[in-house]
Amino acid sequence: MNKLVTLLGLLFCLSMSAQEFEDLLFTNYEKYKVEGFSQRRTAPESVYAQLEKQNTNTLKVKEVTKSIEGKPIYLVSTGEGETTVLLWSQMHGNESTATRALMDVFEFLQQDDELNTFRETLMSSLNLHFVPMLNPDGGQKWQRRNTLGVDINRDALRLQSPESQILKKLRDSLEAEFGYNLHDQSRYYNAEFTAKPASVSFLATAYNEEKSINENRAKSMQLVLSMNKVIQKFAPGHVGRYSDDFEPRAFGDNIQLWGTSLVLIESGGYFNDREKEFIRKLNFVTILSSLHEIATNKYQENDINDYEKIPRNDRKMFDLKIVNLNYPLLDKEYLVDMGINQNEVERSNERGFSYVGAIADFGDLSTYFGYNNFNAEGYTYVAAKTYSGSLKDTSEWDLLKQGYGFKTYQGVHTKHSFKNILLNRIQEGKMISKASKEVNFFLKKDGEIKFALINGFLIDVDKRVLPEGFNAKTE
Ligand SMILES: [Zn+2]
Repeated sequence: MNKLVTLLGLLFCLSMSAQEFEDLLFTNYEKYKVEGFSQRRTAPESVYAQLEKQNTNTLKVKEVTKSIEGKPIYLVSTGEGETTVLLWSQMHGNESTATRALMDVFEFLQQDDELNTFRETLMSSLNLHFVPMLNPDGGQKWQRRNTLGVDINRDALRLQSPESQILKKLRDSLEAEFGYNLHDQSRYYNAEFTAKPASVSFLATAYNEEKSINENRAKSMQLVLSMNKVIQKFAPGHVGRYSDDFEPRAFGDNIQLWGTSLVLIESGGYFNDREKEFIRKLNFVTILSSLHEIATNKYQENDINDYEKIPRNDRKMFDLKIVNLNYPLLDKEYLVDMGINQNEVERSNERGFSYVGAIADFGDLSTYFGYNNFNAEGYTYVAAKTYSGSLKDTSEWDLLKQGYGFKTYQGVHTKHSFKNILLNRIQEGKMISKASKEVNFFLKKDGEIKFALINGFLIDVDKRVLPEGFNAKTE
């Protein structure tokens, strides 16, 4: 009897500890979060500098090849266990969320604290290999493709790039049992039929046209189910299931075919998280807790029939959705909804960008969702005016209240000409483009201007608070 009680107690402790790991990672995240990676546009040099610091007894950092432009690509290895796991991030240069999370994962792996039990389980059961930032040239230029102009994820068979060659070589030499293929997806994906962005999407990648499920792929599905549970806990409903259409040229599909159980993790969008800091945290928690599931074989308890229950990825989000707008055209009014996106436009010569608002869709958008939503019922549409006077005796906020959306300037502008402006700038004598007019207007109620749409961002002109990421446009 005593033995039974002890055994039950032990089992209880084991299951508790396994369950709690993700909670502990989530609550203690700040302890492991590495500074200097709060922006998506992470320079390869920042990653290299951090890896240099992490090259310790615990983590072995080794240069394994160079990119086309000669930038080093590193392999970070740790653990003495039997189960080999290979993880790589940023095969697409402008997808850095997981790279940033890996910096935190490395920090976690070599700290010495009350989570040592978990750490030891990982180290003693697993043989871990990470390639953070597989495409440093693309990372430097903030572009998807590598310097050759090739999408590395369509180069798994032809292997024309050193970045592709090293991934294949590592897969084959390590014979990894599990693979993590870490990417970013558009922030406009949502979990199907819901207003929730797919902050993280998973895929147990198919290895043939028929999308068969062999033992390898079944393990991928079970691992996805473990990851799904974790995200559902911290961001309920924010998970999507990526399409499993077979792509014969892609790495994920081939690595699955070559015998490694592969999981694709795509970081999407989240509310008020343009720089994906919260999603980086979700990556950190998911990667480590799922590795723990592998180390303890706990993922095997998942039923693969639950895999299809994860909502599919859909692409139905807008940055801003305005509904019930009475839109004037040739002396008549029409009831429309507007889907507006704030698209990123790169600025040359610096790792910067600005947003340019644009209509993404127009009409009945009742099946779509917005990060921000506004019901324009009862408001009158007013076109934006252009102000040509001086700003000496008035403020931009006052002008906004009076319905001015543009301010003229003379001569040419440089990228440093206008900082922290509220009204769009337009060169004197120049016509405002049709695309610009569409995302710059005012909404009036009771004879007063209440809201301004400036460069696709909605501003309450009385509250005078700017929305996240706001910038006006200079034409
Ligand atoms: Zn990608």
